[in-house]
This record gives sequence, C-alpha cells and structure tokens, in this order.
Amino acid sequence: MAFAQTPIRILLVEDSPLDCELILHEIKRSGIEVDCLRVETGSQLEDALLEFSPDLILCDYSLPGFSGAEALAITRSKAPDMPFIFVSGTMGEERAVEAIKLGATDYILKDRLKRLVPAVSRALQEARERIQNRMAQAALRETEERFRSFMQHLPGRASVADAEGRYTYVNDRWLSAFGKSEMDVVGRTHSEVWPPERAAALLKAVHREVVETGQPVRRVFTPDQGEHWWLSHHFPIPAEDGKTALVGTIALDVTEQKAQEEKFARLSRIHAVLSGINSAIVRIRDRQRLFEEACRIAVEHGNFGLAWIGRYDSQTLDVTPEAWSGIGTEELLRGKATARLDVPDGQGVLGRALRAARPVFDNDISLQKGVGGRRREEALRLGYRSLIALPLFEQRAVVGCLAMFAKEPDFFTDEEVKLLTDLAGDISFALEYMGKEEKLTYLAYYDPLTGLPNRALFLDRLSQELYIARQQEHKIALVLGDIRRLRFVNESFGRQTGDALLCEIAARWKSVWPDSENVARIAADCLAGVIRDIKEPSDVARLLEGPMHDSLTAAVPVDGKELGASLTLGIALFPTDGGDAETLLRNADAALNKAKKHSEHYAFYQTEMSATVAESLLIENKLRRALENRQFVLHYQPKVNLRTGSVTSMEALIRWHDGETLVPPAQFIPLLEETGMILDVGQWVVRKALADYRQWLDQGLQPPRIAVNVSNVQLKQPNFVQLIQNAIVQAGDGPHGLDLEITESMIMENIKTNIAKLHALRELGIGIAIDDFGTGYSSLSYLAKLPVNALKIDRSFIATMVDSADGMSIVSTIISLAHTLNLEVIAEGVETPEQRRLLMLLKCDELQGYLISRPLPHAEIAALFNKVMSP
Ligand code: C2E
Ligand code: CA
Ligand code: CA
Repeated sequence: MAFAQTPIRILLVEDSPLDCELILHEIKRSGIEVDCLRVETGSQLEDALLEFSPDLILCDYSLPGFSGAEALAITRSKAPDMPFIFVSGTMGEERAVEAIKLGATDYILKDRLKRLVPAVSRALQEARERIQNRMAQAALRETEERFRSFMQHLPGRASVADAEGRYTYVNDRWLSAFGKSEMDVVGRTHSEVWPPERAAALLKAVHREVVETGQPVRRVFTPDQGEHWWLSHHFPIPAEDGKTALVGTIALDVTEQKAQEEKFARLSRIHAVLSGINSAIVRIRDRQRLFEEACRIAVEHGNFGLAWIGRYDSQTLDVTPEAWSGIGTEELLRGKATARLDVPDGQGVLGRALRAARPVFDNDISLQKGVGGRRREEALRLGYRSLIALPLFEQRAVVGCLAMFAKEPDFFTDEEVKLLTDLAGDISFALEYMGKEEKLTYLAYYDPLTGLPNRALFLDRLSQELYIARQQEHKIALVLGDIRRLRFVNESFGRQTGDALLCEIAARWKSVWPDSENVARIAADCLAGVIRDIKEPSDVARLLEGPMHDSLTAAVPVDGKELGASLTLGIALFPTDGGDAETLLRNADAALNKAKKHSEHYAFYQTEMSATVAESLLIENKLRRALENRQFVLHYQPKVNLRTGSVTSMEALIRWHDGETLVPPAQFIPLLEETGMILDVGQWVVRKALADYRQWLDQGLQPPRIAVNVSNVQLKQPNFVQLIQNAIVQAGDGPHGLDLEITESMIMENIKTNIAKLHALRELGIGIAIDDFGTGYSSLSYLAKLPVNALKIDRSFIATMVDSADGMSIVSTIISLAHTLNLEVIAEGVETPEQRRLLMLLKCDELQGYLISRPLPHAEIAALFNKVMSP
C-alpha cells in the first residue's frame, strides 16, 4: 500500500502512551513512515489541529476528563474534512454507529488492530478525493459564474440549446426581449416556448443546420420589415466526443449599423451624382444637353428611379418638361405641370418648391392624398414613394425645377437635401453662366467669323480639360494648325475669299475632330483642338494622317476658284510636354514652328516622339501595301518524329519581302496585331498554306500536314472558326492538311469561349498544338479538358536544358505531363545533338529546330517530304 505523502502526520488523542506505542507499531510494521503527536485534552487537540496540521486523527473513545465524542466535535468544527478514526477497546457496536453518524470516518477495536492500516489508508484516500471533488466543484461554479456574467454583459440576446432544441440557458436580455421568465424557457424545447411556425422556422433554418454540419450559421434578418435588423450567429458547442451537443446563439441588434450603411450608400450615390453633374457642367455648353445629362446621371449614378427638369413660367405658373430620364417618364410627364395653388396638381411637392423658391421633399407621397393630383397618383402607381423638387434659378428668379423620385420611402434626410441643394445651386450657376455666355459674352469668347471659341475661351476649356485629365490620369493632346498661305490668299484674292477659305477649313476641322466642342480659332491663321483620353501618340498621328488629312487637303471651292487648303500642325502632349494650358500652348507652338521649318506636315514637341511615331506609321503604311503587293511569303520548317526520323508535319512561318531584305516576323507581327491588319494577313497565311498543300498534292507529292500560327487577335474574332472553315471550303475538295498552333497564354486568356472554338476546329479535322508551352500559366484542370493534340515546349526551355537543372526538370515535367494527358510533345528550337540526345532519353515525341532544318522557302521544302532525317 502506497501513500501519496510520506511521512503521514498522525495526531493521536490517547491517554495511554502504551496504547500509542502499540498503534504506531502496527502502522510502522506495514512500512509506512509516520510523524506523530499525542494529545490528551481538548485544548491540546485544538492547538495541534492548527500547529501540527495532521493528515489523520486516531482517537481513543474513552479518555479521562475528555470524551472521544468531544474530540470529534472539536475536530469537525475546525477541520470538517479531516479523517477521524476511533481506536477503542471498549466501544460497543451502538456507540460506534452513533460515532459514524456524528462524522467519524471509521472505528477500530484495539484487539483488532490488523484492520488499522487498511482503514487509515482508505480514510486518507477518501479525504483526498473529497478535497479534489470540492476543488472541482468550486472551479465549476466559478466557470459557471463567469459564463453567466459574460453572457449578461453581452450587448445582445444569447441562448444555448441542446441538440434537440431544448433551451439550457438564456441571458437576461433574451428574457426581457421576449417578455419571458427563465422558468418558462430553460428546460423547454423550441416547440414548447414558441408558436409552431416560429419554432419550426428556428429549428429548420438554423438549429438543425448547425447540429448537422457542425458549422456556425450567420444570418442578418429583420423580423419586422426593416424596423429592426438583427445579426444572429449560431454556433456549435461540441461535447467530448466532438459531436455537436449544444447550439449557442448570439443575436445582436444591428439596426443602427444597417441604417448607417444605408445612409452611407445613399450619400455616396448622391455624391456620385454631384460630381457627375459637376463634370457635365464643366464640359457642356448647351442648356438642353446639360439638362439631359443631369437627369441621366441622377438616374444612373444616383439610383433615382426618375429625374426630370422642367421650365417654369412665372407668368402662367406652368412647368414644361424639358429633359428627363428613368422609368415612367411617359406616364408621369404627359402635359405640363403647374405651380398653381388653386388646383390639386399644383399643391404637391413641385408646386410648393416653385412657389417657395426652395427645395421641398416628401418622404412618403402615399400619406398625403389629395395634393399633387394626377401626377401623384401616377407616381404611386409606378412605385415611387420619396420625391424632391429643387428649384433652379437664373438671376435670382426661379426658372425651372429638377425633380427626382426614389422608390424607397424616407429617402431624404438633412444631409441628402443639403447635397442636392448644392447640386441645384451648381446647375443654376451653369444656367446663369450659359445665359450670360449666350447674350453678353458671346463676343468676348467666340470668333464671330468662324463661330469657333476664341483664344480666351479655348484656354479656359483647355484648363478644364487638363483638370479632368489630371484627376483621371488621362493623356491629352493639344494640336495647333497653321493655315498655310492664308495671307497669300488674302493678298491676292481679297479678304472675302480669305475669310471663306478660313471658314471652310474651320468647318472641316470641326467636323472631323473627335470632340467638336474642343476646337477653336486662337489666332488669325491658327486653329487649335484638344483630343482627350489618348493612349499613344500614334493615336494622334493616325487621326491627323487619316480623316483629318483627307478632309483638309481636299480642294476648297471659293467663288468659282479651287483653292488648295493645307495646314501645318504642331502637337504637344499632356502630361509629358507640360502640365498647364500656357506651357502646352507654347510647346505646341514650338512644334508647329519646327514642322514649318522642316516643311513637315506635322511635328510633335518632343523630337523623339515625331521620330518613333513617324517610323511606326511608315512601317504601318508599308505593311498595308505589302499585302496588296504580295510581299509576304511562307517558309516551312519540318517537325520530325524522334523515333522514326520521318517528317510528320511542318510549320508555316511568315516572312516579309521588303525590297531586298527578308524581314522576320518578330519585327512586324506586333504592329500587325496592334493595327488589326493581322486579321487580313492571318487569313492570307491560312489560304496560302491550304493552297500550297493543294498544289503539292496536285503535283503527286505527299506533303506532311501544315501547322499555321494563330495570333490572339485572330482567335478573338467571334467568327474565327467560320473564317477558317470558309478558307478550307474555298481551297477545294479533298484533305486540307491544316493544323493550328496557338500559344498557351492565348488559350488561357479566354478559356471558356476558346474551348468551344477549339472543339469546333477539331470537328473540321484540324489538329491543335499549344505553342510556347511553359511560358504561360496553364491551369492543369483546364489543360486536361482542352481539345488539343500536342504541346510545343517553348524554345527557351530547350535552349537551357543542357546547362541548367531547372530547364532540364521543366522539360522532363512537361513531357511526362503531356503523356499523362495523352498529348504529343514537340520540342522546338533544337539546335544541338546533346539536346536531341536528352530529348530522346526523355521520350519526347517530335523535334523541330535548326539541327533538323531551318525554315525553308516553298521551292526547297518539297525535297524533304518523305525523306527520313536522322533525328
Ligand atoms: P514560334 O511560333 O515560336 O516559331 C518558332 C520560331 O523559332 C520561328 O521564328 C523559327 O524560325 C524559330 N526557330 C526554329 N528553330 C529554331 C532553332 O533551332 N533555333 C532558333 N534560335 N530559332 C528557331 P520566326 O519564323 O522568326 O517566327 C517568330 C514568331 O513569329 C513565331 O514564333 C510566331 O509566334 C510568329 N509567327 C511566324 N509566322 C506567323 C504567322 O503566320 N502568323 C502569326 N500569327 N504568327 C507568326
Ligand atoms: Ca509556332
Ligand atoms: Ca515558340
């Protein structure tokens, strides 16, 4: 028998030292170490309990002047858990039972001391367990208390229910929210607590889901149609076996957050309207267009259901719709509205706003019947609830009204109304400005001869354009055009002829300019224009060389004379050539002078710009002619089977015969793609390959299949498959031998539509290889689904495979990947015997590269058909 702690401390309450000896002897005999103290009186016992702090008390029953029963009473009062065993010679059965009742742990007769040790050890064991139990219970109580106080402080309702839906806990907030008492709820199931519908909903919607999935469930809901919003979180509380034993629920009132969120969304909508309309105000000079744009923006960006602007006649009090946008405009805006107080139609929001000359809104037009007349009925029928009317002013007089309808009730709060009032103020400002512009300042801002804006206005607009371009990080171009020989015309044919020429040129410029409002006459013989949002300087050059050039160089018939008109142009770009209107204008002028000096048609401020733009335009033009003049040729490069050495197919590679030189595709394909010319050229390649194949067949040869490279621009055409099919049909009956090579990145860019296209191509008997494989990001799951026949390992990996472990492992991975997917693998760009040796070891299927053959012209390739090459 082992004791947890030795020596054990035994307090003996015994008057006889001899008996003491006997007892201790018995205990020590069993090998137990003891510390021992003997006491005889009550006060000694009390002291010893404190100072000696025994593990166990052994007590004689009958003591002179002090009884065992007293000793027990003292002990229990001081140390309730202390093991207490009577050891007595005289104790009868009855007393013993009595003693146990009073709290003794056990009793032993002195003539049966053999029982002593087992009794002691059991008493100690029980005492220890009691203490542990008590500690555990205390801990449990503490946890429980902590849980409760935690739950009570939670800013929401909390409950716990078991897997069957029986509530085991609810917090005070829960109780007060539902007006129930703990007794009515705890221990009862959902069905006992709630009406059947709600109980079923709770159980079905969340409880069961949490129990079954073991996953938390979150819901945002409004039990009372938006008056309150709750976020409830239901989570599993697992038992020891990991199964969901309980489901905890916390529900927080998020009405305020929700309202904030909605308010924020509403405000940002209105901000969007405000900034949209402000930028329209900056751009638009025409009253009608501004109104239309304002209505459109209110509906599209502000999410208003309907917006309209009406002109107000302060004499008749009529409001005539001038511009509108949204749903229901036809029904709602039939006929004029009125601000007359004496008819229902005029008593609504609109009439009140116009009469009071301030914004008026109604957050629920369903409430006030009678006022507003037919329009209100119509608006209600269309589902509108909130309405605001904002008067528009010109020189302090109300001249119109902007009305906006929203489907939600309570749409307008102070903040929104303030923003919208600002908005109406901005529109009024624009009206004022336009009005002035129309009447007083026309001459100050326009050139009376051509009707174009003058320099002052142009500078103003240019600044505004720059402001927008800066915000949106756009590039813009300023173009100045000097009318050549205007002075000469003036002097030789008279001023009138000169003016007519000038007007005609101005009109032509305006008609071809992308944005006719941004054209001006800024000096006697100088026109100017702004192009906004350009991507490349060549965009500008294309415009100037294309439509602009054609229109402006055509002869101008004036007074029966045909005058040659021509312009010299100078271009400055924002932001590269200047950040403000003055600088740009100065630099465009410098560019203009440079062009004049060099007798160029146009010049960019930055010389390099002119050079690169000119170069790419030059090549562009040359390429355009190349197709017409049949300057493109196809060379063919064979692919051979690594095992048999036979030529399995050949790749068609385009070259450009530009005079003496044979230009490689890398130098012109990108430009063809940029300009879209690749569509024509690509189609030509397909037709040419088909024709060559047909010709070889007709000559009785057995040409291998021909693989044609396809550019992204081609593949993107919706009718790409159709075009290929047409070409095949036109090439005539019989086998066409056509395959296509498409780069990995191209396929992956638009995988869904491409899969369909590839399927259709394969239906036509066309084999497809993924070109440049390894350079893109193929998703393996797609790769498996792609209807392709082969992968071509990109040349860069073949080039590095011999020297770099990385290259080697990429190549070997691609090969085994391809084989797993049942695809052929072709290595392109094989140049050395060592590469060939390694590829053979890796079980690559086909090789292509200078080691086998360079791409060969039409006349030379036929010699390789049927030839077995040593691969
Ligand atoms: P690509 O499809 O990867 O074609 C392989 C290129 O590698 C060809 O260059 C070929 O001449 C070259 N090449 C072949 N074997 C070796 C070799 O052993 N070593 C080295 N260093 N190069 C080798 P090329 O003909 O200059 O064509 C370049 C790219 O132009 C082609 O790359 C392809 O993307 C494109 N291309 C060529 N023809 C056409 C065409 O008709 N249409 C379209 N869209 N693109 C084409
Ligand atoms: Ca290729
Ligand atoms: Ca390649």
